Amino acid sequence: MTSKNEEKLKFSAEISKVLQLMIHSLYTNKDIFIRELVSNASDACDKLRYESLTRTELKQEGGEYKIGITINKEKRIITIADNGIGMGRDELINNLGTIAKSGTQEFLSMLTGDSKKDMPLIGQFGVGFYSSFMVADKVTVQSTKAGQKDTWQWESKADGEFTITQLEPATRGTAITMYLKEGEDQYLDKFRLRHIVQTYSDHISFPIEITDDEGNTEKVNTGSALWMRQKSEITPEQYKEFYHHVAHAVDEPWLTIHNKAEGTLEYTNLLFVPSMKPFDLYHPDRKPRVKLYVKRVFITEENVELVPRYLRFVRGIIDSEDLPLNISRETLQNNPLLAKIKDMVVKRVLLELKRKAEADNESYNTFWKNFGPVLKEGLCEATSPRQAILEVCRFHSTHHDGDALTSMDDYISRMKEGQDTIFYLTGDRLETLRLSPQLEGFTKRGIEVLLLCDHVDDFWVNVLTDYKGKKIKSVTRADIDLEQMGDIKDEEKPEEKTPEQEASMQSLCARIREILGDSVKDVRVTSKLTGSAVCLAVEEGAMDFRLERFLIEQKQINTASAKILEINPDHIIIRSLAGKLLDQGSARDIEDATWLLFDQARILEGEQVADPAAFTRRLQGFVEKSLAA
Ligand code: ADP
Repeated sequence: MTSKNEEKLKFSAEISKVLQLMIHSLYTNKDIFIRELVSNASDACDKLRYESLTRTELKQEGGEYKIGITINKEKRIITIADNGIGMGRDELINNLGTIAKSGTQEFLSMLTGDSKKDMPLIGQFGVGFYSSFMVADKVTVQSTKAGQKDTWQWESKADGEFTITQLEPATRGTAITMYLKEGEDQYLDKFRLRHIVQTYSDHISFPIEITDDEGNTEKVNTGSALWMRQKSEITPEQYKEFYHHVAHAVDEPWLTIHNKAEGTLEYTNLLFVPSMKPFDLYHPDRKPRVKLYVKRVFITEENVELVPRYLRFVRGIIDSEDLPLNISRETLQNNPLLAKIKDMVVKRVLLELKRKAEADNESYNTFWKNFGPVLKEGLCEATSPRQAILEVCRFHSTHHDGDALTSMDDYISRMKEGQDTIFYLTGDRLETLRLSPQLEGFTKRGIEVLLLCDHVDDFWVNVLTDYKGKKIKSVTRADIDLEQMGDIKDEEKPEEKTPEQEASMQSLCARIREILGDSVKDVRVTSKLTGSAVCLAVEEGAMDFRLERFLIEQKQINTASAKILEINPDHIIIRSLAGKLLDQGSARDIEDATWLLFDQARILEGEQVADPAAFTRRLQGFVEKSLAA
């Protein structure tokens, strides 16, 4: 059949590596190539069904949609054919010669060429069409794009190159022929193929037919949209296979959300939360990927955001009964019906997450590790149901050691007498947070503090200030009065101060204010510290340290605002400084010690020391003096 116009082209480096992996496949389950090719065939039929809603001529020849698997024992080939949208010459080259999906290039460049190391990587990624090379040493793809006259053939032996040839015109669709490797004759067995299709592809909504050597044809799948069936008639296996198909994923669904909404809006959703974190979760181009169907007809997954970005890990389909079939993709995003569906779906997903968290805490924690930071992005948006999101959020906390997590509600149930605020501390690393002096007074009084160390935490805490009637506040705020909160052992209670002592602390504050000048906003006595002498704090309503630092890095603001220096009246250094206030000879020491304490507080908050040379000189002076003493 091939004519002389054969063109030779090279695979991209990434594809060559993928193909090498397929040829020397370590997959224990090669059957999945059938699932992958049938899945592509079904997508191709879906695409044409949508296109032909507005361009009926596209479908005129080529009959009703179906997928056919034909066996030829004599030639040892099987062919998987569909009468879907088809591919033109350039699409064959682009789709089956390069990988264009966002983030894939970077991902695949991590492949080393060592199949043992690469297999787990590729396992996360899914191999689609290329899986055919697990069982075949040569693969031919013949394709005719619907509405076009040309037919093109792509052929490769996975040896670094493929050929493109023009063929005699045929009717629309794609046929993929696999020349089986030695030892793969099992795929020539009709019963085996039927079993594989029923295991992996029963949910496909187009008929799948197997034709044997004698020309007998048999339809082997149920052939109706899976999501329209009763839940009780769908097995977990079938859900899983549908998830693999719709999400191009290879893991197990962690959560399956299948329900039908009836009433003012009528739609069915079949949504999945993956059990594995996809490699492109944080890629800027990653879009929420839920497919829109209208009355069983696939419409699109690209021009429409059916779930918000903070649920971009959710995969699956939504099938609406109310939208018109001929709806244009361009106007979809502004459709008010869709906006309502989106709101309802968000509520549903959050409700199911809550149920799952209540039913299986351990499994929920795994979910949280994968997707928690993404979900928390929703806390930053004014339009999202922030309280409902917060309800399913989990946090590290001083109540638990190690990696254990807590919910806001659990936190509230452990709040102390007189405590009306949920306290937190943000930082980069959990280990460092646990050692922060800012926690001292809280720990001593048995007051729990949430430890927030995801990047997104720095943002939502600035816009979300209460939950279930409790304030949410950073322990770095200057107005926290711990005296009235929690329970503290008698022997740990600070001594009652005499009026003279109180007055001398106030004088010390004034003196420090004078020394530090514009470098601080204020100097105050605090009950927050025990082991440390000083810490920095910010006023209620002012920007928190970390957000401010981030905005400076991003050049959104120029300089940091002055902070409040809090001093611990029970600390030996502070007490000695207060004692020396009236001693003229100690003026220089008080000044140096003040700057040292201030710089130390800045270092602890991760801030730069303003004048490193002066800092070193002062520190050296004190060290010398203490060694000489
Ligand atoms: P994926 O299906 O994950 O996108 P594949 O490597 O399996 O990746 O396929 C690459 C692309 O080739 C598909 O996205 C699709 O555009 C095209 N393609 C594959 N099989 C067919 C087919 N049977 N009909 C039409 N297009 C197809």
